[in-house]
Amino acid sequence: MNIPSDEELRSACPEEWREFEAESAESYDEYPVLKEITLAHLRRCCVLLRPPGLPAPVRDSQGQFVKSPPETQLFWYEHENDFKALVKECEELESWSGVTKNPEEDIIIEALQSVETPVKEIMQYVKNQRKASGRPATKRTLGVMAAELRLTRPRPSWTKLANELCDCGQASHDHGCAERIRQQVIALKKVLRKYDIVLPEL
Ligand SMILES: [Zn+2]
Repeated sequence: MNIPSDEELRSACPEEWREFEAESAESYDEYPVLKEITLAHLRRCCVLLRPPGLPAPVRDSQGQFVKSPPETQLFWYEHENDFKALVKECEELESWSGVTKNPEEDIIIEALQSVETPVKEIMQYVKNQRKASGRPATKRTLGVMAAELRLTRPRPSWTKLANELCDCGQASHDHGCAERIRQQVIALKKVLRKYDIVLPEL
């Protein structure tokens, strides 16, 4: 499924964008990788909330998401594969962001809950996905942290990164620790490519 431009998403899901932009203005400066992963995730949440051309989600007076309009529910019912693919992508991106609790996550869960009975099967699928994927965030987050340091500082060696970041518990970190981190950065680069995230060479 094509992800609309940020401009289109900003007008389709103003609440979500405003929240992200306010947050990113101060907190994402030193985290260029996390910022891009979060944005890729947010774009997909926005599409789940409001597929292109459909009415805005119902919100309360505080701007909190209440439910998807029937058109959106029907749309996802008819585009089950796109729905599943988007949810899967959201989960993959979440697993790299390492953020255990972020507002977009609530939004997506709410969006999914608003999909009513005809899509029971999809709900079951999503539940199973969540169980299966668990939250192997630590290792992946290590890759993101290492990548951030490689981007924001004169490029540190893998050994130096291991000394700084490795959580293996040993008193001193060896070649294996450095290699684990390097592998995580390689895996991260694959994910960044998959989501068309362009950053300076890691
Ligand atoms: Zn170690």
